[in-house]
Amino acid sequence: MNATGNYATHEMDSCCQPNSTHLAYADALQVLDHCCRDVSPKIETIPLTAAVHRVLAQDVVLDRDEPPLARSAMDGFAVLNGDGVSPREIVAVNYAGDVGELILIPGQAIKVMTGASVPTNADAVVMVEHCQVQGAQLNIDAMPSKSNIRQVGELASRGAVAVKASQMIGGPELAALASCGVDAIDVYQRPRVAIISTGNEVVPYAGVVRSHQTRDSNRIMLEAQLTQYGARVISTQHVADDVELLSAAINSVMSLADLVVTVGGVSMGDKDYLPQVFKQLKVEQLFHKVAIRPAKPIWAGHHNQTMVIGLPGNPVSSFVGAVLFVRPIIDAWLGDFSRRTTPRLAIAGVQFQSKARHDFVVSCFDAESKIVPTHSSGSADWRSLATAQQLALIPPNSIISSDDLIEVIPV
Ligand code: AMP
Ligand code: MG
Repeated sequence: MNATGNYATHEMDSCCQPNSTHLAYADALQVLDHCCRDVSPKIETIPLTAAVHRVLAQDVVLDRDEPPLARSAMDGFAVLNGDGVSPREIVAVNYAGDVGELILIPGQAIKVMTGASVPTNADAVVMVEHCQVQGAQLNIDAMPSKSNIRQVGELASRGAVAVKASQMIGGPELAALASCGVDAIDVYQRPRVAIISTGNEVVPYAGVVRSHQTRDSNRIMLEAQLTQYGARVISTQHVADDVELLSAAINSVMSLADLVVTVGGVSMGDKDYLPQVFKQLKVEQLFHKVAIRPAKPIWAGHHNQTMVIGLPGNPVSSFVGAVLFVRPIIDAWLGDFSRRTTPRLAIAGVQFQSKARHDFVVSCFDAESKIVPTHSSGSADWRSLATAQQLALIPPNSIISSDDLIEVIPV
């Protein structure tokens, strides 16, 4: 952010300038989407207790009308309209859970609790707050303006869809599935992902680190990020900048994984060997470099059905690249590539400005629920990720003023 409170892009050095060989963001997504059409998501049956965060593969329908019996929506007294406000005789009490197939005859009332079945011929339930009881006699102030009875099938009918295929399962979906009496469901198998971090300077985050070295923070971030997106991380490892070692490591995971994600080594440095290693391994390149910031050097390809993404090593680039390009691939394996690519609208809290490429600014909500950058914009600034709530999307060559609508992609 500059002194006037605006967020503007940093001056780019020449290596950051997009050029005609860089795909536009939308084109890169389209290329990936097209390639992912060859993905055949697999389905497995799991118990409901293991279903949280999984994606439903088939619609689940109601096995009975909801409610299956006319039920009271209130604690009160079931009555007949024909008796008006005349006193009635309380002849029974029906609790939720009582079988209670009762019938009212004129002049009678039956006490009912919320969720209890009401007499089959009852017209209304008078809330207990509007009733006076003297012994077995019920007096009411007035008939209620609505019946307070949930009729059979009023919420949904047997056979109606309770949870749609492709829905990610959380607490409310589990409740809906449980309400249908389901104890095992069909979900998409989580794609198997292998993560490889690279770089001679990159060392384990726990342990001695010397000043010329960098802690391997990306690998643990990606493992968490991709797991959160729905993948199953089957291996993570670090490999030095060495063509032979990189080639052996990638080759050994490529046949086991649906998706291989590497970090670092795809830019213009002398030891950025991955594009050449991918080529040697006959990974077919889909694109290399996209007109975005950060994560411009990103590499994408596939080897048969295994997708391969080479993320740049700077932490912000890795994070943003994974949100923009790895998450949709995981989503393709979970039945819907575009599930999370559509931006939402929010309100900018500062001015955002871009140059000749899409900017994705790591952002959060401010105290007024407006979108502001989390910290700074440097792609090495790992601190800016810790409070990320969304990426603000700034189209090429545009200015989004404070209080204007801004597109955001939740992270
Ligand atoms: P590269 O994309 O390999 O040129 O790396 C760009 C920058 O990201 C360098 O400063 C690297 O040290 C840093 N970096 C690469 N890999 C990681 C990692 N796994 N964790 C943290 N930083 C990394
Ligand atoms: Mg490197």
